[in-house]
Amino acid sequence: MDAERVLAGLDPEQRAAAQAVRGPVCILAGAGTGKTRAITHRIAYAVRTEAIPPGQLLAVTFTARAAGELRGRLRTLGASGVQARTFHAAALRQLQYFAPRVLGGAMPDVLDNPLRLVANAAARLRMRAERAELRDLAAEIDWAKSVLATPDAYPQRAAAAGRETNAAPDEIAKLYAEYEQAKRRAGQIDFADLLLIMAGAMEELPDVAEEIRSRYRHFVVDEYQDVSPLQQRLLDAWLGERTDLCVVGDANQTIYSFAGATPDYLLGFRRRFPDAVVVRLHRDYRSTPQIVALANGVSRETGLVLTGQRADGPEPTFAEFDDEPAEAAHVAAQCRSLTENATPAAEIAVLFRVNAQSEVYEQALAEAGVAYVLRGGERFFDRPEIREARLLLRGAARAGEDSAEGLPDAVRGVLSSLGWYPDSAPPGGAARERWESLAALVTLADELRAADPNAHLAELVADLDQRANAQHAPTVQGVTLASLHSAKGLEWDAVFLVGLTDSTLPIQHATTPAQLAEERRLLYVGITRARERLALSWALARSPGQRRSRRPSRFLEGLRPASGPPVTTKKKRVKPEAEDAELFGRLRAWRKRQAEAQGVPPYVVFSDATLVAIADAHPQSPNGLAQISGVGPAKLTRYAAPVLEVIGGADPEAVDPVAVG
Ligand code: ATP
Ligand code: MG
Repeated sequence: MDAERVLAGLDPEQRAAAQAVRGPVCILAGAGTGKTRAITHRIAYAVRTEAIPPGQLLAVTFTARAAGELRGRLRTLGASGVQARTFHAAALRQLQYFAPRVLGGAMPDVLDNPLRLVANAAARLRMRAERAELRDLAAEIDWAKSVLATPDAYPQRAAAAGRETNAAPDEIAKLYAEYEQAKRRAGQIDFADLLLIMAGAMEELPDVAEEIRSRYRHFVVDEYQDVSPLQQRLLDAWLGERTDLCVVGDANQTIYSFAGATPDYLLGFRRRFPDAVVVRLHRDYRSTPQIVALANGVSRETGLVLTGQRADGPEPTFAEFDDEPAEAAHVAAQCRSLTENATPAAEIAVLFRVNAQSEVYEQALAEAGVAYVLRGGERFFDRPEIREARLLLRGAARAGEDSAEGLPDAVRGVLSSLGWYPDSAPPGGAARERWESLAALVTLADELRAADPNAHLAELVADLDQRANAQHAPTVQGVTLASLHSAKGLEWDAVFLVGLTDSTLPIQHATTPAQLAEERRLLYVGITRARERLALSWALARSPGQRRSRRPSRFLEGLRPASGPPVTTKKKRVKPEAEDAELFGRLRAWRKRQAEAQGVPPYVVFSDATLVAIADAHPQSPNGLAQISGVGPAKLTRYAAPVLEVIGGADPEAVDPVAVG
């Protein structure tokens, strides 16, 4: 591609940014306005016109995924020699090369998880902390390092920043100091150290600084609103006295301030570089005008208004449900109908506030036969608290520790030995996620009990085993399940924003105006991920039959249709009509054998709802069967013959299970 063609794909403002090859440049613009596109084209243009040798350019961003995305786009534009890395990856490479000079020895071991060292340090200080609390303490130490606070400075900085922690600030300061010492003794460093060491080396050792600065002369930073003081310090060290820096960002998308990021550097860029070229973009190329209007509604206080450039699309939808399983079933059915109508699964995302919300969606999608990929979080059954809980539940089932009050009560009893109590969600990210994961188990118990009033612990344990097996099937192509945080910078044709209740978004522990503003920005980020279809939903209770005490997110006030609750759909508990009971029973018996032959849970073959529909409709041909919701093309090919046999009156025990490869 020649240089002019690179520019042809840009609008006049984007082009102005791309043609400003040298000097400080700042692109300040809303979501979907083509910031990432402008910088990739700017880099490609500079390389194509030979204004900058590709090897002298370093593009940085915040996640490995975003860096990969940058590299991919650069390759397409014919600028593959350019380095696109995260701050950490760039610092790691530099330290690997300079370790002998900077540290006087070999490259130290880089800890990819500081948890064990933090746990040891806590034990030495006789601090009592659960695993999830340790994770929060480790995150707190990382915050301190991101904002360049030493252990001594920590208590004061934490107070100024309004940090909410599980332990007293001076205890955390001691833990932080102890952790640093233990790490040094072990000859290890953590991720933050990579940046600290490289920045320090360039500040102290002129020859190292000079060598790095002669290698990299031009810098580009995407998502600059989420830079931390530590990352900024490294960037400043790279830059030295020079000004060849191009930053792009959107202050409305600052969603990592809890981890030390700040939009101040983005917003103060003009002050620091008075002669900077500042470009503002306002045309939104990503989303339909309907989605853009909603995004503008959410960000209205900030004064930034986007103008949608695309053709009209459907209005965003708002839906209220009685409980989470009903919400998830509805979303899964919609995903399914989208994939059956030519939207590839990879172009669909279900986004939520906390990872624990994923379980009910993992399950609903599996049940609806829709493949999914979980991003940026551990699959539900891989989480340590869920493994622990399953072990305990299995033990309790074996010991017959069922409760007279029923299954959910027995489960609550077992979980209380893990320190889990209803209505006691703790503060702190990881502790809260753990609490939510365990709460999801109680939801499963409630559901099982609603479906089968006689279910005991043993049935729950069997049910969990089946789910775990079904969900462990690895998938490559599927609907994305991701947290709002990990969706930044990405886009999909259809986006479902789920669980939008007032204690989840804003999250319960967000109370200060600053925290609430960050929660609102998360909603803005979520909405602006969608190109064409956007569905927002929430459930009034966690589990079926519980009191419907939740309220929709306050951020939706004035945005969702005002008149009454919008759509109320109730997930039907399957109860076949009496006249079909005989056929339904035989279909179930067939399904059971078929599922066993395949080694999968029955709902993977057909859901109960589908079997009821089949029994009701009594189809006589493959065509008739294909009309039934839940019978997709793949299932039709597989199961049409045996199902029609059973409908025709065959004894399910006499119908051989079909082989499924
Ligand atoms: P975010 O704030 O979410 O990171 P962004 O500002 O970086 O968004 P991009 O991802 O660069 O936006 O662009 C959003 C979408 O709009 C992409 O699909 C991109 O290809 C398209 N787009 C951007 N600019 C143009 C343009 N001038 N013409 C056509 N399509 C464009
Ligand atoms: Mg972007």
